[in-house]
Amino acid sequence: MDAATPPQSPLRSMKVRCCIVGGGPAGMMLGYLLGRAGIDVLVLEKHADFFRDFRGDTVHPSTLQVMDELGLIDGFLKLPHQRLQTMDGLIGGTRVRIADLSRLHTKYPFIAFMPQWDFLNFLREAGKRFASLKVLMNTEAVDLIRHGEIIAGVRAKTGDGIVDIEADLTIACDGRHSTVRERAGFSVEEIGAPMDVLWFRVGRTPGETENLFARVEPGKMMVTFDRGDYWQCAYVIAKGQYDAVKARGLQALLDDVVRMAPILKHGVADVKSFDDVKLLTVAINRLKRWTRPGLLCIGDAAHAMSPVGGVGVNLAVQDAVATANLLADKLTRGCPTEDELDAIRRRRAFPVKMTQAMQVVVQNNIISGALKGGDRPLKVPLIVRLITALPWLQSIPARFIAIGVRPEHVHSTAARQS
Ligand SMILES: Cc1cc2nc3c(=O)[nH]c(=O)nc-3n(C[C@H](O)[C@H](O)[C@H](O)COP(=O)(O)OP(=O)(O)OC[C@H]3O[C@@H](n4cnc5c(N)ncnc54)[C@H](O)[C@@H]3O)c2cc1C
Repeated sequence: MDAATPPQSPLRSMKVRCCIVGGGPAGMMLGYLLGRAGIDVLVLEKHADFFRDFRGDTVHPSTLQVMDELGLIDGFLKLPHQRLQTMDGLIGGTRVRIADLSRLHTKYPFIAFMPQWDFLNFLREAGKRFASLKVLMNTEAVDLIRHGEIIAGVRAKTGDGIVDIEADLTIACDGRHSTVRERAGFSVEEIGAPMDVLWFRVGRTPGETENLFARVEPGKMMVTFDRGDYWQCAYVIAKGQYDAVKARGLQALLDDVVRMAPILKHGVADVKSFDDVKLLTVAINRLKRWTRPGLLCIGDAAHAMSPVGGVGVNLAVQDAVATANLLADKLTRGCPTEDELDAIRRRRAFPVKMTQAMQVVVQNNIISGALKGGDRPLKVPLIVRLITALPWLQSIPARFIAIGVRPEHVHSTAARQS
């Protein structure tokens, strides 16, 4: 235990082969895959449920492909969702098309919009048939257990007190504010993001429909997702400007929202105070090393993604698939060596860097310019004009967003379940 160990003594202790910290897309998918491979695996999730509003809700074609390879797709697509094939936006009043997924040669050429809690609950329910997989909710990793240089598990806070969980391998899937990576002392390379997001719901009546998801105007930007009975709105503000937005007052914010998206004019009455508006801080960063002896970081814990392109969930899932492919067999024998653990970084660092580079290009060329404001009308960037004018070009961003770089396929074996 290191110097900052919380003072409480553990009430209980337990031992597992693999302890996954964090039940987000990376952690729940990895838990499912390792449970399927018959590995003794425990997933810790600090919240009591998955019902939180601030998660990405996009399930991309490559994740749908993974669900297909796992034999889960039919049940999954029975959950309520909306399908998106074309990504259209308004930039300074000009309609643009950024991507058309129908042009892709893939089995599932659409993005499924589904509340992330449904996706995570589905994985949790599906994983219940694996006797070696356990998910502990309401259990927060607060520190690492160390045996010399080796990370040997985590100390966790539960409703019943403190528990020590010894593990041959600990995998941090605890997101961009990862406690595990902070406790392990990894250095983080910050790439930075110029914006934060205000996240709120606006009521939607059945007749209200609009095939537009992004709107950009001088000084303002907003994305809307059709969630069936409401619109999920993501209003983008310049980083650190939340207090200034609050100082202008709620009505000024809602007036801007309705000016940009008149379709929201009735539903905005649902936003009654700033309590209904959540501030989500955006970060792009990555670790140089993803491992220590006995420890691996994946998903946002290894590389925080911005919301641009809605690709972070997909990358987290792809990391999980690669991790199971490369480590499941080795975990049957014990903890993989640090070099074997580092194979995950060697495989996934390239897709991560390429995707973060795309996010930075969009930040620098569209978002920063738009957020500066000013009186001059916004010009549609040349590349966006070209993509809109030449439909065959729309398959390039579609492929990048929907499939990503170096898509992963499930190769880890399924153990016979008794
Ligand atoms: C404003 C915003 C909007 C976004 N929108 C999208 C989008 O539409 N589509 C998309 O694909 N991506 C989006 N992203 C990115 C996406 O949210 C992340 O890339 C993705 O969620 C990463 O998945 P993960 O499993 O690695 O981490 P997370 O989703 O962050 O999951 C981490 C989990 O670990 C749990 N946890 C944290 N600490 C502990 C602890 N100490 N002990 C136990 N559990 C712990 C958390 O409760 C959480 O459940 C968005 C990001 C932001 C900031």
